[in-house]
Amino acid sequence: MFRIAALLLTTLLASLANAASTKAVRFGKLWDGHRVLANAVVIVENDRIQSVTANGAVGGGVEVINLKRYTGLPGLIDSHTHMTYYWDGAPDTTPRRQPPRHVAVTVFLAQANARKTLEAGVTTIRDMNGMDGADTAMRDLISMGAMIGPRMFVSGVGIRNYPTRPDVPDLVAESVRRAKAALDAGADWVKVFGSTGGFDNVTGDQTVSYEEMKAVVDMVHAAGHKVAIHSYGPAAARDAIRAGCDTLEHATDLDDDTIAEMVRKKIFYVPTIDHNQYYVENADNAYKFPPGTKDNLSNYIQRNFETAKKAFRAGARMLVGSDAVYNGFGLNMRELAWFVKLGMTNQQALETATVLPAEMLGMENSLGAVAPGYFADMVAVEGDPLTDIQVVIDKVRWVMKGGAVVVDKTRVRSR
Ligand SMILES: [Zn+2]
Repeated sequence: MFRIAALLLTTLLASLANAASTKAVRFGKLWDGHRVLANAVVIVENDRIQSVTANGAVGGGVEVINLKRYTGLPGLIDSHTHMTYYWDGAPDTTPRRQPPRHVAVTVFLAQANARKTLEAGVTTIRDMNGMDGADTAMRDLISMGAMIGPRMFVSGVGIRNYPTRPDVPDLVAESVRRAKAALDAGADWVKVFGSTGGFDNVTGDQTVSYEEMKAVVDMVHAAGHKVAIHSYGPAAARDAIRAGCDTLEHATDLDDDTIAEMVRKKIFYVPTIDHNQYYVENADNAYKFPPGTKDNLSNYIQRNFETAKKAFRAGARMLVGSDAVYNGFGLNMRELAWFVKLGMTNQQALETATVLPAEMLGMENSLGAVAPGYFADMVAVEGDPLTDIQVVIDKVRWVMKGGAVVVDKTRVRSR
């Protein structure tokens, strides 16, 4: 009787040991978020990194994933997406002219966006406007393991005081009410559309006042959350920085004082330059934008780039935000090429998609680096991103998220 019990216990312990899986991942080279390690060995236990060593040895009985041909990086973070904006490319539709769908259908279809995002090496995103709870639903399904996709931090419905302004007697109270409603519905962040601008519209007229922004920021901070403010133009951006937002989105033509205040307050700047390049490329075939749109977009890109360059030189902390929508998923890291073009070193550019956004999210002790105790979120790229940033954009070959391999193209040899 005792022998049988002991045998059963031994069997049980053995199966538990198997369930608690340990993996050793070997990279030819690893940029861990701070420095480069040659012949790195990363030991992963369940969803976390246990150890990182250069020229490390691997003990027996451990599953080895051999990525010696590749360079390892921390799982990448895209600080501005619209994961629930789905378009299947059906004839007689455009991304913005589609038949209405039930929110559950949207959530199901948007899995395709989530997969393309992972394939771009992105294991975490901050989503900046989702309707009817589609974004919180995706976030929760992904964290439950019921849907495959990047970790999501979501804003719910962004606050937009235009064009409803004339109907609302107290816009300050109304803005706070809407922000609170977003948090009550499960949002991690609050998004405020502080100006016009988006899609083919590159106007940046302020639509939310300083008083409204300030009241929202104060309430949201008191509730333990953070605020992102969208502004295409300089006026709403100036007030967003004065009001103490946590991140500023888009924002061209910033004046020197606003840039200086942004740097002093350590507010993150997410310029989303490549987003309008994506619109230029899709203006005719996908979006069917009116004539002249591409000229407006190109003009805006130029001003966006110059403003970002100025902000970087002044010491602003900048983040990769793709502003990915519809058929733009998978291009998430193209912003890195713009950042290198405006003067960042490759390492500085990589920081804008790893350690810096981890800090922005308040996750600097578990995301954005390959280090003991961190989530096992890692990417393998073909080539050396410290000399050629393009390999992070289009040569992602393997992705691990939370200890699970979610993308593996290592067996398809590229020519
Ligand atoms: Zn956006």
